[in-house]
Amino acid sequence: MKNGYSTNQSGILYIVATPIGNLEDITQRALNTFESVDLIAAEDTRHSGLLLSHYGIKKPFFALHDHNEQQKVNVLIDKLQKGLSIALISDAGTPLISDPGFHLVRQCREVGIKVVPLPGPCAAITALCSAGIASDRFCFEGFLPAKTKGRCDKLTSLLEESRTMIFYESTHRILDSLADIQKIFGAERYIVMARELTKTWETIYGSTVEKLIDWINEDLNRIRGEIVLVIEGTSILSDRGDISPQATNLLERLSKELPLKKAAIIVAESFGYKKNELYQYGLTHFKE
Ligand code: SAM
Repeated sequence: MKNGYSTNQSGILYIVATPIGNLEDITQRALNTFESVDLIAAEDTRHSGLLLSHYGIKKPFFALHDHNEQQKVNVLIDKLQKGLSIALISDAGTPLISDPGFHLVRQCREVGIKVVPLPGPCAAITALCSAGIASDRFCFEGFLPAKTKGRCDKLTSLLEESRTMIFYESTHRILDSLADIQKIFGAERYIVMARELTKTWETIYGSTVEKLIDWINEDLNRIRGEIVLVIEGTSILSDRGDISPQATNLLERLSKELPLKKAAIIVAESFGYKKNELYQYGLTHFKE
């Protein structure tokens, strides 16, 4: 019996991407899969109910969110092993990408249940492909930590990251995060803020971090909605001469607290540059 309990064959777990705003961004294959499966595992069953009713699809739901995923995985594995097929979706975009599903997929693969991915929207990739920042090598960092200390530690660990970096952000934290990004990566780092992608107020704005903060402060509506940050990696920064970005960042930070000469001496000792070279760099880049 197809997808019924009486077969000895396991069902299939489909990982189905759904739109990140524009409902036209659903694939025909996703719709066919929703029609064919026995069950849809979703983060927020009410939210996903609205999505599926938009496409005229009615299916039983199973709630799987971050807080209950580990407990619920066994229930879903049991259903799959009895031959039911399940589509996993999240509130928006690709499941598992800053969304639940990892434990379920891992467990399925461990016990030999077939996992079939259906590609589609993902905010990180949608932002990257429109940012005009190197897209040949990039890393996805999800959400930065909520507290300043954790955020600065995380950013410091990325100081030498030469790949393009992609972060998810929320309206409430974006200005604090940008302030920390400026503090750690320096005011000149190039960054693109992609907001409300695929929706009415879609905005993709690129500039230095410092200018981005000014631009936002001119109109706080510019950070309403959902946001992705795409940040240029360190080795492709321009105008840094032969001095490494790590050294110039430290010099910039120290020069805010100390006379430039002292800052230059400390950085010269740490990185092995000539103090005069650093002093000249500071004069041209940080001092009016
Ligand atoms: N799984 C989703 C994906 O594939 O992109 C991401 C889920 S994560 C919980 C939600 C975050 O993704 C938002 O806080 C925002 O940073 C980003 N995001 C989702 N939709 C977006 C959109 N339309 N425009 C910009 N960012 C978006």
